[in-house]
Amino acid sequence: MSAAAPFALVRGCGPTGALAALALCDAGWRVELHDPSRKEQLLGRQRAYALTHSSQVLLQRLNLWEGLAAQFVAFGQLDLADLGSGGDEVCFDADQLGLSAVGWIAEHSSLMQGLLQALETNDCVQLSLGTSAPAESGSSCDLIVAADGPQSPTRNALGIDCWHWHYGQQCLTAQVDLRGSSAGKAFELFRPEGPMALLPLGGQRVQLVWSASPARCRQLQTLTANGFLDHLAGVLPDRFQPDQLVVAPQSFEVGLALARRLQRGRTLLLGESAHCSHPVGGQGLNLCWRDVAVLHRLARRVSQGRLGAAALPRQYALRRWPDLVLTLAATDLLVRVFSNRAALLLPLRRLALAVLARSRVLRRITLGVMTHGPCRLPPG
Ligand SMILES: Cc1cc2nc3c(=O)[nH]c(=O)nc-3n(C[C@H](O)[C@H](O)[C@H](O)COP(=O)(O)OP(=O)(O)OC[C@H]3O[C@@H](n4cnc5c(N)ncnc54)[C@H](O)[C@@H]3O)c2cc1C
Repeated sequence: MSAAAPFALVRGCGPTGALAALALCDAGWRVELHDPSRKEQLLGRQRAYALTHSSQVLLQRLNLWEGLAAQFVAFGQLDLADLGSGGDEVCFDADQLGLSAVGWIAEHSSLMQGLLQALETNDCVQLSLGTSAPAESGSSCDLIVAADGPQSPTRNALGIDCWHWHYGQQCLTAQVDLRGSSAGKAFELFRPEGPMALLPLGGQRVQLVWSASPARCRQLQTLTANGFLDHLAGVLPDRFQPDQLVVAPQSFEVGLALARRLQRGRTLLLGESAHCSHPVGGQGLNLCWRDVAVLHRLARRVSQGRLGAAALPRQYALRRWPDLVLTLAATDLLVRVFSNRAALLLPLRRLALAVLARSRVLRRITLGVMTHGPCRLPPG
């Protein structure tokens, strides 16, 4: 790598910043990556992500898929049910839709382990964990990438405000062994108190992503393991019987947030420093990684001399708005339409699910939008 290679400072080594640093290196840049968290803290989150095809394409392009995918659990079916209206269940089936899988479940710790290993063995990256970037470190770089999460100190220091929306819901996650679940199938259950996802982790183990009011989440967290399993059994359809609580419940605030601008000067906002969405539909990390896909393309153009480094942040912002606005609007609509028992909406919900359950073409289009995003990037 020549010293003349463009140079980026990446702030934040969550799944977005880590992948962004690898993408910049792949594009021929030198990278300094800082995070105040230590390695054990970065690996320690109990979370599972539902990865879509847009994430698979990016990981393949960066030659990371082969190494990481061995740890992922592929699922061939996604069942969607509206328990509030009692409408038809819709099954998105990879075979019927001509896909290798509907998606993949990645546990946070094994995903981060793989990304950190790739960073540690990459000569173009200088990785500093457990320390913040020194104040002067941004002065000599061509680009600053803020991937420092929803509270983004970089965004705040730049004086960039966010649009916020709170749903009056929190999200409770836990791992349980669930009789009636199957290794190759994920479930999205719309319930009046909020959506619930069951993400397969192999065998009968599932990651539960349960949205409910903050008071309800607090109450669920205070229960004993058996009390929690009883409550869970009470809200799940009869075919599921929770057997064992494997990882205790934790809850997180959920809401929608979008930064009012995605760049200022040499700095651009990436991942949750720029946007947060409700976990419904598992869009969160995939949307963050579509930011990385656009950064990767533009960084390559800079290395090839087809774009000035100074123009990159503005080009990035221009390209990201449509996907961000449409994806956030779609997740917002799902939460608003399905998290209630509004009498006027129930027949419409039943009708929409009945049409979707009967039309393979509509299911293919819906899954295409969910998995590649509403503004699919052309190949190259
Ligand atoms: C309950 C829950 C369930 C979810 N489920 C899913 C799911 O199923 N599928 C999905 O795709 N997404 C899901 N998400 C969303 C997903 O977790 C986020 O999209 C993802 O963590 C965002 O990654 P990030 O790297 O942008 O931010 P983060 O993971 O928050 O990383 C930000 C990093 O920046 C670091 N940092 C902070 N300050 C500084 C600083 N001053 N300088 C440098 N670094 C700094 C932090 O230490 C942190 O490591 C879920 C979220 C929640 C809350």
